[in-house]
Amino acid sequence: MNKISTKLSLPTEPRAFGFWVDGKSVPAGKRGVFERLSPAHGVPVTLVPKCTTQDLDAAVAAARTAFEDRRWSGLNGQARAAVLLRTGALIRERAEEIAWFETLENGKPIAQARAEVLGCADMFEYASGLARSLHGDSFNNLGDGMFGLVTREPVGVVGLITPWNFPFLILCERVPYILASGCTIVAKPSEVTSATTLMLAEILTEAGLPDGCMNVVTGAGGTIGQALIEHDDVDMLSFTGSTRVGRAVVQASGQTNFKKLGLELGGKNPQIVFADADLEDAADGVAFGIGFNTGQCCVSGSRLIVERSVADDFARMVQEKLARVRIGDPLDEATQIGAITTEAQNTTILSYIEKGRAEGARLICGGEPLDFGRGQYIAPALFGDVTPDMAIAREEIFGPVLTIMPFDTMDEAIALANDTDYGLAASVWTRNIDKALTVTRRVRAGRFWVNTTLAGGPELPLGGFKQSGWGREAGMYGVEEYTQVKSVHIEIGKRTPWVE
Ligand code: NAD
Repeated sequence: MNKISTKLSLPTEPRAFGFWVDGKSVPAGKRGVFERLSPAHGVPVTLVPKCTTQDLDAAVAAARTAFEDRRWSGLNGQARAAVLLRTGALIRERAEEIAWFETLENGKPIAQARAEVLGCADMFEYASGLARSLHGDSFNNLGDGMFGLVTREPVGVVGLITPWNFPFLILCERVPYILASGCTIVAKPSEVTSATTLMLAEILTEAGLPDGCMNVVTGAGGTIGQALIEHDDVDMLSFTGSTRVGRAVVQASGQTNFKKLGLELGGKNPQIVFADADLEDAADGVAFGIGFNTGQCCVSGSRLIVERSVADDFARMVQEKLARVRIGDPLDEATQIGAITTEAQNTTILSYIEKGRAEGARLICGGEPLDFGRGQYIAPALFGDVTPDMAIAREEIFGPVLTIMPFDTMDEAIALANDTDYGLAASVWTRNIDKALTVTRRVRAGRFWVNTTLAGGPELPLGGFKQSGWGREAGMYGVEEYTQVKSVHIEIGKRTPWVE
């Protein structure tokens, strides 16, 4: 494990950001600011405004005007695509700066942040094509007197609430698709990781997005977030975060204007390993699946379900892989696991590790706080002797905590995998195609990986079954999510009169 050896420098003073309304940055003024300390270094890195509900109203009004006067939705697909393509290019130009702020605010390794930012540029480039290919349907089989059309129209003003674990990536898994559909946006990032959302708003304006189409308000979830989900002039709310807040979003929609909802919530994702798998590769994938982003990942493979005949050997292999992962300063290019993003999350993870012990699970390795002199770090924990009723096996921990449970038959493995309120993602590791396909069909999850994990890209949709959410992001599904379908009946010739 690495000692702190900062190679990229820390900022000498925090950068002050304004919030973003109608194409302009608005400084905090007398509103007060959130001062964000780097979770890896404990030094102030950014200041973002504490927006008021009046600021939110101004942002929604700007998005409403921009939507209603059709300055964006009225453009043809080619013009919208051009803006999205330019945005991709500008993200590439500023990738180093965006990645730096992502690491400073979130604590994720700089090499990972860079890869995510380049992936985000790709999202915009891919979605530019979708802006041109979005289309409806036609019915030419309604008889000689009738022609039917189905058109797709943008939903309108979209509120977009994002979490702190992948501030830029999750944003860019939504914004290009929302814009491709012709909608306008009011985004509210997590109060601890707002910088890169504000940078994206600036980039979109520079790329030629008309004013008012992308607005960003910064503030706490309980105040500005709550006001956004309750706002009567927001047509759709795309929420990514905890299942707990997801429930509040559903309630708020029902109690206000029945805004359409997209929900991307929590997960407790199984990784099923059969004895016939390439176990070396599977152990590496399992270590990656729980260590990546310090396990603060909605799709982390946190429940390991292993065929009993290899379970002990496999646990040793995973332990050995985890011991070799480079944990340390996220600004160090070589680091693979950085800091835990918030103090509250650090406390939550450590309390689950204690709970696992208290419930009788056996801590095979890790689980201890790592002292690098500053910042908050936890060695990835691996628990054996876990039973399905334990909290560490059921609840989303959102940290580097992996539980192992053995199985004897494929049916048992599938039942264990499905024994959860969540249904976000799952992986299966086997060389047998029949097993791979059967498990893929029968495990209830919105994303599935066979002999790999956490693979992604702009083409395939993201979303959950069960309490992991509603709707899909990314791919053409992600654009269609932000549209409404309209049926059009067109009479050909003279209609049969009703009154004779
Ligand atoms: P969170 O639910 O606490 O917060 C998410 C966002 O909601 C933040 O911007 C927060 O400020 C805001 N918020 C909080 N309370 C609110 C309220 N009452 N009204 C409106 N907005 C409110 O989640 P988090 O701790 O930031 O993120 C971790 C959670 O997010 C985990 O459960 C994780 O699984 C989930 N997540 C899901 C996905 C996915 O795609 N399914 C992706 C990433 C994270």
